[in-house]
Amino acid sequence: MKSFLLYGKKDVRYSDIPYPEPTENHEVIVKVKSVGICGSDIHYYKDGKIGDFIPKEPFALGHEFSGVIEKASPLHPRLKIGTRVSINPSRPCKTCTTCKAGKQNLCPDMKYIGSASVYPHLNGGFSEYIKIPAENCVTLEDFISFETAALLEPLSVVLHALSLAGDIKRKSVLITGAGTIGQLCHMVANLYTDEAVVITDIRDSALEKAQEIGTTAALNPKNSNFETEVISYAPEGYDILLEASGANTILTNSVKFLKKGGKVIQLGMFGDGAQFPFAAFMKNELTYQPSFRFNNEYEKALELLQTKQIDLTQIISDRFPYDRIPDAIEKASCSLNDIKIIIEN
Ligand SMILES: [Zn+2]
Ligand SMILES: [Zn+2]
Repeated sequence: MKSFLLYGKKDVRYSDIPYPEPTENHEVIVKVKSVGICGSDIHYYKDGKIGDFIPKEPFALGHEFSGVIEKASPLHPRLKIGTRVSINPSRPCKTCTTCKAGKQNLCPDMKYIGSASVYPHLNGGFSEYIKIPAENCVTLEDFISFETAALLEPLSVVLHALSLAGDIKRKSVLITGAGTIGQLCHMVANLYTDEAVVITDIRDSALEKAQEIGTTAALNPKNSNFETEVISYAPEGYDILLEASGANTILTNSVKFLKKGGKVIQLGMFGDGAQFPFAAFMKNELTYQPSFRFNNEYEKALELLQTKQIDLTQIISDRFPYDRIPDAIEKASCSLNDIKIIIEN
């Protein structure tokens, strides 16, 4: 069957691999229809790894995807052949103490689809057919498109981050980075707060997109009046900073906009050499809260789509056919104007 595997840095290649066969009764085979290219896929592509997840053998990237049931499971009659589904890529063990403590996203035995974090690696949506536990398949109503259903994963990531912020109804929010995650941050934050939601990025095109979707303000640090403008929307400082850029100096440059006792929620993945402004955190009693993947937010993300509170098509900037996956990831890795690139099958 068709598959595009990551062989190493900048090397995603067509590979004919065997069709998966369900090995356990609770598994189904899904034919992939849409896949989103994520920042972490780009890390794998550019660096051949992400953090300490280093692939031991070629595998298929793509953890943001949707599709149809190709082979059903006798134990799960709700998932008939042809049922449209979105795939929750998170497979915690559910039995360890971390899982039992309600932090399944931190499970040490996590099997994440389309990730090299466990071995054997679990192929993701860059393979056309995938074996999936039935419980990871979320059924879709007809009006939800495959491409938006593929984006439930990043939406879940953002919902998890905001759950760590607590109730934000009367809180001002500053977001750094206007890629997919940053855009979703302002879309979700605007649902929950009455106060200002301001986003920053060095790319004007990304800021224009944020403004078009509708946020309080979208500001570029390259502009001379940037600081004054940022402060003008929250004169006493922001309550929450959602850091979604992963830029090495971003915290040093941004903590000054926070209120005393404010909170930083980290979504962006830092590279080596990132700076941390210890003194600013100390003297202002700031809280630094990293947010990793998501916990049980997938259903909640689906609900936002089903109730039409969020329109994820707004962040899709380009689409590629399945056979052009290598072109799609190459473009995603160097384009400054794209937000989310989607692959369609
Ligand atoms: Zn992702
Ligand atoms: Zn566990």
